[in-house]
Amino acid sequence: MTIMTEFQQKITALLPNSELRMNELMAKHTSFRIGGPAEVMAFPKSTEELGEILKLSAFLDCKPAILGAGTNILAPDAGLPGLTICLKDGLNTMEQLDDTHIRVGAGVSMARLATFAANSGLSGLEFAHGIPGSVGGGVYMNAGAYGGEICQVCTQVKVMDMEGNVHTYTGEQMDFGYRHSRLEDDGGIVVEATFCLTPKSTEEIRSLMQDLMTRRRNSQPLDMPSAGSAFKRPVGGYAAALIEQAGLKGYRAGNAAISEKHAGFAVNLGGATAEDVKNLLRDVSDRVFENTGIRLEPEVRIW
Ligand SMILES: Cc1cc2nc3c(=O)[nH]c(=O)nc-3n(C[C@H](O)[C@H](O)[C@H](O)COP(=O)(O)OP(=O)(O)OC[C@H]3O[C@@H](n4cnc5c(N)ncnc54)[C@H](O)[C@@H]3O)c2cc1C
Repeated sequence: MTIMTEFQQKITALLPNSELRMNELMAKHTSFRIGGPAEVMAFPKSTEELGEILKLSAFLDCKPAILGAGTNILAPDAGLPGLTICLKDGLNTMEQLDDTHIRVGAGVSMARLATFAANSGLSGLEFAHGIPGSVGGGVYMNAGAYGGEICQVCTQVKVMDMEGNVHTYTGEQMDFGYRHSRLEDDGGIVVEATFCLTPKSTEEIRSLMQDLMTRRRNSQPLDMPSAGSAFKRPVGGYAAALIEQAGLKGYRAGNAAISEKHAGFAVNLGGATAEDVKNLLRDVSDRVFENTGIRLEPEVRIW
């Protein structure tokens, strides 16, 4: 019996209502629309269920891959062996704690969180409205846009370790940096985050959110599969500007290309493979390095 068959049998006996899918295509769960089958994908609906899944996978010595909304991931064409845990929409609680604080589950989308904050008359998450990921992915990545960043408003994070124990960290303890948090080094799964916001009129908040969304629509290829900015912002420049200066707008590797609309985006033209995207990122990084001496590093997480 394989480890995954044993996992499946044991989890079904323990949690009969747990949702498990076999050979689930990662392409269905990534904004790039790329990626082969995950051997087993679990969709926990609560922190308790997640805890049981993690305890069993630790017992079977299998380390799961953690998927949020899949908007910053390049998944392999060959698929993923073992267990993948998808948290999108699963941990979806959202509550206002007092005049300034909101507590939210990791599976809630950033757009839903920003709308909830706006409707509660709380400002500080307008920047997050157009980021297509989940709260868990946003905290893990310290997502940011238009001058806002998760670290500016996130004051507490509940993290489950791989044995199913929950730890609570303050914003400072999360060691947030540019597209970085302590979870990248230490592992662990965001299950819940608390945000401290500033009271403001809902109209003003909505107006800023709409303004930022218009700027996004006008400048980004939102009609094509991508994972947002392909490269991190290098010290002393902007990736998109360096790529454009190197004459690489529209540059193609297989069915992946640098967007004609925004040189910071790598897009799937239709039928692109993970290999196409990796070749594209490598070629672009090399050409920009030859041109400027600046080495671009991928922002997208390559699995
Ligand atoms: C069109 C488009 C525009 C974008 N614009 C922006 C932008 O303006 N700013 C920006 O910062 N990003 C942007 N992104 C990238 C992406 O949306 C963010 O990085 C987002 O925070 C990723 O969240 P996710 O839930 O999709 O994470 P995923 O892509 O699923 O995962 C990303 C990483 O986070 C980990 N992870 C996910 N959930 C958890 C969890 N609960 N606990 C622990 N680890 C977890 C994964 O293991 C993985 O390593 C954009 C992407 C697209 C497609």
